[in-house]
Parts: sequence; structure tokens; C-alpha cells
Amino acid sequence: MLEDKEPERTSLEKLGEFGLIDHLTRTFSPKQPSTLRAVGDDAAVVKFGDRALLVSTDQLVEGIHFDLSYMPLKHLGYKSVVVNLSDICAMNGVPTQITVSIAVSNRFPLEALEELYTGIKLACDIYQVDLVGGDTTSSDRGLYLSVTAIGHAAEEEVTYRSGARPNDLLVVSGDLGGAFMGLKVLQREKEVFKVNPNNQPDLEPYSYIIERQLKPEARKDIVSLLKELGVRPTSMIDISDGLSSEILHLCDKSKVGCNVYEEKIPLDPTVISACEEFVLDSTMIALSGGEDYELLFTIDQDDYPKIKGNPNLTVVGHMTEADRGAHLITRNEESIPLKAQGWNSFGQG
Ligand code: ADP
Ligand code: MG
Repeated sequence: MLEDKEPERTSLEKLGEFGLIDHLTRTFSPKQPSTLRAVGDDAAVVKFGDRALLVSTDQLVEGIHFDLSYMPLKHLGYKSVVVNLSDICAMNGVPTQITVSIAVSNRFPLEALEELYTGIKLACDIYQVDLVGGDTTSSDRGLYLSVTAIGHAAEEEVTYRSGARPNDLLVVSGDLGGAFMGLKVLQREKEVFKVNPNNQPDLEPYSYIIERQLKPEARKDIVSLLKELGVRPTSMIDISDGLSSEILHLCDKSKVGCNVYEEKIPLDPTVISACEEFVLDSTMIALSGGEDYELLFTIDQDDYPKIKGNPNLTVVGHMTEADRGAHLITRNEESIPLKAQGWNSFGQG
């Protein structure tokens, strides 16, 4: 047989992260009746008695997801756990166990890995989850970290990306854009340090946004709050890639459209002032910044009185029929189609 000398090559950049996942997994369909949800949500859902077991995994790669020149290893350990717990929360579940796998080059001494595990332990203690296993291997360069989180929920309480209906209210927890602006400040200080290593930066004014970047939290408290308030979200996702990307996921999976109102997007004053300093548009940063790990969910309009006035929750818009599309309604009442400009590991972001 003649070999094709120039076999067709498709660049991953062209496919994008979600296109790639879809392409690689589309021929897999669940064989087990216990697989309630496979690929495509924040966590996989497996039936276990009358409960649903939730499983989610994420990996962090040095140079792509973190830079050790401004990310202390202890924080990296903490963050690597939290981002996975966030995915369990995004299913309306409670995280219970994690496994941690590392690939590490001999550039790292034992003390460095001890630091990493101090952060992992802190997250386990704060979130009451157990480290139950993992894997350790070497890498030729850099540090690779992969964490799997396990959790559970009552089967009927599991909240998927696909449950939003037209007229549901779109709600976000906390505030947005802080993690990205924290990263901007850290990157700037790194450049200043390169030029003048004796410079002692005053990072105090930026402490909130730097903490949002270095020490994010999973909103386990919001999952409990919603239960206390008697609110069952109709769909939910966590905000890892930026508000607009996550809204589009909810719209896509739920087959609905959405209007999100610029004036409603919750921003901390320090995010607004940092955006002014960096000459960035704070709405754009909230829409595209990513890594805030807040929860984005929809609720039935009848549940509005239950969440009204809660300082942790902000209604940012409402869902519409699918053919209306997903739009940002600006302060000038212009309607602009939402685009996913979130962070993308294959380079577009
Ligand atoms: P999240 O941002 O919530 O962590 P991702 O965007 O990473 O979710 O993943 C979306 C979905 O695709 C998830 O269900 C995830 O388990 C699945 N997935 C991602 N990469 C792969 C892969 N290489 N093979 C199979 N499933 C994958
Ligand atoms: Mg997620």
C-alpha cells in the first residue's frame, strides 16, 4: 500500500478546546445504565444506590496554567484542589474525596513538594475532603498536577448545564473579574522585578484581587445557601473561563437564549479601579477574564423572592427562547451578541 506522504493535519488551535473534546469523544456512548451523565458537564454523574456520585478532573501545567515566579507552591496546591471542588459544587453536590497525581522534574527539591502538599492539605481541611490516592511520576521538565474530585448529591438534586428554561432568571454568586485583574497585577510586578529586583512593591491596595487569583474558593457555601433558601437551581455551571463563555455553555446545553444586563454584573470596587489603572473595560474583564470560580445558575422566576436582597447572589439576566440568541444588553441599551472569548489553552484566549 502506498503511504500518503502528506497526510491531512488539522491544527488544534482551529478546533479549540471544546471542539477538540467533542471531536475525540463523540463516538463514545454510555454502555452502563449507571452512567447518568458522561462528558459535557462540570462533573460526570454516576448512579450509586439512590444517590448520584459526581466525578471531575482537572490538570494544571507549569507555564500554561501557572507561573511559579508569582504562584507560591502552597497556593498552587490549594488552588488545584479548589478548582476541582468547584466543579462538584457546580453540580449542586458536596465534595468528599480527592486524588492527586503529580509529574515532577528533579528541579524540585523535597521541600518544594512539601509546600505544595501543605496547600493541598489546607484545602482538604477547610473543605472537609479526604485525599484518598493519586499517582507520582517524573517529568523531563516542569510540574504537572492532576486532581480528581469525588462528591455526591441526591439524584434529583443534581443540577446540569442543560436544565435552564426560557424566562428563568440568571444568577451569579460573588463578584467577577477579580482573579484576572489579580493576575495582571502579579504579571506586572514580575516585569518590574526583572528590571529592579530591589523594588519592594506595595501590593496592599490589590490584596483582594491578588487573593482571588492565588487563593480562589469553591462556593460550597452557595450550594448550602440555596438548600437553606429552598431554591433548586434549574441549571448550573462554575465560572472558570469567564461569564460569557459559561453563559453560552448554559444556552447551548439548555437550548435557550439569554439577555444579560451589563449594569447588573457584580464587580468589586478594587476590580473597577484596577481596570481603570490598566485601561481595561471592566465589563469585558468580567465577561472574559475567567478563574473566578463563582457559580452561575438559573432559577425559576417564582423563586426570586427567596434570593432577593441576598448579598451573595445577583440576578444578571434572564433566559429567552433559543432563537433570540445570547446577548449583552449594554448600559446604553444596545444589544450585543455574546462571544466566548474566555481563556483557551490552545491559544485563542
Ligand atoms: P470544566 O471547565 O468544568 O472543568 P471542561 O471544559 O474541562 O470542564 O470539560 C468539559 C467536559 O469535557 C467535561 O465533561 C470533561 O470531563 C470532558 N473532557 C475534557 N477533556 C476530555 C478528554 N480528553 N476526554 C474525555 N472527556 C474530556
Ligand atoms: Mg466547571
